[in-house]
Amino acid sequence: MQKILEAIQNGASGAELAAIPLPDSYRAVVVRKEEQTMFEGMESEDKDPRQSLHVQDIELPELAPDEAIVAVMASSINFNTVWSAIFEPLSTFGFLTRLGREGYWGARHDQDFHAVGSDGSGVVLRVGSAVRKWAPGDRVVIHCNHVDDQDPSSHNDSMIGDNQRIWGFETNYGGLGELTVVKANQLMPKPAHLSWEESAVNALCNSTSYRMLVSPNAAHMKQGDAVLVWGASGGLGGYAMQYVLNGGGTPVGVVSSPEKVALLNELGVEHVINRREANYKFWSDETTQDESEWRRLGKDIRSMIGRDVDIVFEHPGRQTFGASVFAAARGGTIVTCAATSGFKIEYDNRHLWMKLKRIVGSHFANYAEASAANDLIRAGKIQPILSAVYSMNDTGEAAYQVHKNLHEGKIGVLCLAPTEGLGIDDPEFREQVGEDRITLFRRHGA
Ligand code: NAP
Repeated sequence: MQKILEAIQNGASGAELAAIPLPDSYRAVVVRKEEQTMFEGMESEDKDPRQSLHVQDIELPELAPDEAIVAVMASSINFNTVWSAIFEPLSTFGFLTRLGREGYWGARHDQDFHAVGSDGSGVVLRVGSAVRKWAPGDRVVIHCNHVDDQDPSSHNDSMIGDNQRIWGFETNYGGLGELTVVKANQLMPKPAHLSWEESAVNALCNSTSYRMLVSPNAAHMKQGDAVLVWGASGGLGGYAMQYVLNGGGTPVGVVSSPEKVALLNELGVEHVINRREANYKFWSDETTQDESEWRRLGKDIRSMIGRDVDIVFEHPGRQTFGASVFAAARGGTIVTCAATSGFKIEYDNRHLWMKLKRIVGSHFANYAEASAANDLIRAGKIQPILSAVYSMNDTGEAAYQVHKNLHEGKIGVLCLAPTEGLGIDDPEFREQVGEDRITLFRRHGA
């Protein structure tokens, strides 16, 4: 692996990289099948990713014709790695077993370890015989939509495909490792003005936010729309805020500390609610919601922007969903991709139908959407929201930070990259975009 790293750092050509033999095994961050019941009976918040995430050697699988092996320079923590690490809402080994039933290539994934991670930046080392667009030496980022392109259901919108999966969550050999194995149609060009870790944190959350807000497949925001974003300085929210600003909308962010308010103000967001300070109690007990608290949120929004919001960007789920449906304007859209605080949702349907609102489900992004989102990063129009960087050995701690909501933006993980700040190929363009804009979250997280 050292030879591969040295070659990458010395700018070796694709042919030179292709000539370096690949190791039989590599280090990766895994959860273990034998430990999948280790947290049984515990409350979610007590389940500790530091106990379940391990760094171990795993065997490099055989490469399928439509795949690539990538040397991973950096990766990131996504909430799905937290879900894998606490085995909630179910153990991800079930996904691997199901994939394992899908023939010869699927069987490689069904192991007693699950190498996790759904983001990555790095360098292509090998491509399968059917890969046309990519070659060894290409500097890439990886999006996590793993689809079977021989399935007709994937060909309108691949997120609708019957066999659609999330790489590193529903498949093995994910991004948190020295190497990864991906479908060639997960590769996208690395932003040349960003470091490995700045490049590695975007694909999952940026593409998800792009689809949720910008794409006609979900909320399809238009200029002038007012948008309420929960968790506005978090992984999804940090990109969502930028999309609303870029798209000529009026963002209203919700966060939970004065530091996060200050961060969003510096990003250019004028209207930010500190939910801790506001102390909304949408649920008066475990089974009863308090509509007067929904009204208080609506009033707070109107006092800031003079009207209701056209779009609510939802992901906290049970705790906030009733309020979100209420707070959307007549004819408005609640777009949701998750339910961090609970999947069983309750809202008052009268507010939905009488005011002609719609709830739209959204999940990651198809290749076209992920590429469009990546192009905006490459063009310097959307900035990475990297706030902290950990070594691969400390992935458990990094996931713990996300699990406990102690972070802002995205946490990067150095895999093969020995230090931060490497991999910037176009310093001139970086200067043009502006160091301050690129590193805003990193400076706040430092
Ligand atoms: P994140 O970085 O942890 O940010 C989420 C933010 O939501 C938190 O920082 C917190 O911000 C806010 N929040 C959490 N619980 C809340 C509650 N009960 N009420 C109000 N706000 C709350 O996570 P993320 O990467 O943005 O992901 C968020 C969720 O989306 C996760 O469940 C993740 O699995 C899911 N997700 C789904 C997809 C998909 O494709 N379907 C893609 C990415 C993520 P404050 O404390 O500052 O308010």
